[in-house]
Amino acid sequence: MRQQEIICTVCPMGCHIRVTGSDDQIQSLEGYTCRRGEQYARSEFVCPMRTLTTTVRVENSTEPLLAVRTAGPIPKEKLFDCMGLIRTAVFHAPVALHQILISNLGGTGVDLISCAERKER
Ligand code: SF4
Repeated sequence: MRQQEIICTVCPMGCHIRVTGSDDQIQSLEGYTCRRGEQYARSEFVCPMRTLTTTVRVENSTEPLLAVRTAGPIPKEKLFDCMGLIRTAVFHAPVALHQILISNLGGTGVDLISCAERKER
């Protein structure tokens, strides 16, 4: 059994939600003020997800750095491994906006995409 205080980020109210349960079963939830917050806290307790955002180097480009992100949230526990994969990958211009740079990043089922375009030098 574990307890966790989760700050809901669904809206600016930032309710503090206290969750008690085991890894796959929630026993009690307190502090949420709407259904969206309850759902957020449940999913954050059982399997927290995050959208990964970072920058990568692009070879042969007029600008060397490119902002990238995952096309959707990935399990928080996979962030470190995915960053390792991104760090060792090599990217080349030209790159289009929202181009898939790594598909199925780290086996998450989510692609890494560009947040801007980069022209060839
Ligand atoms: S619980 Fe509802 S009201 Fe509170 S922060 Fe989350 S979404 Fe907003």
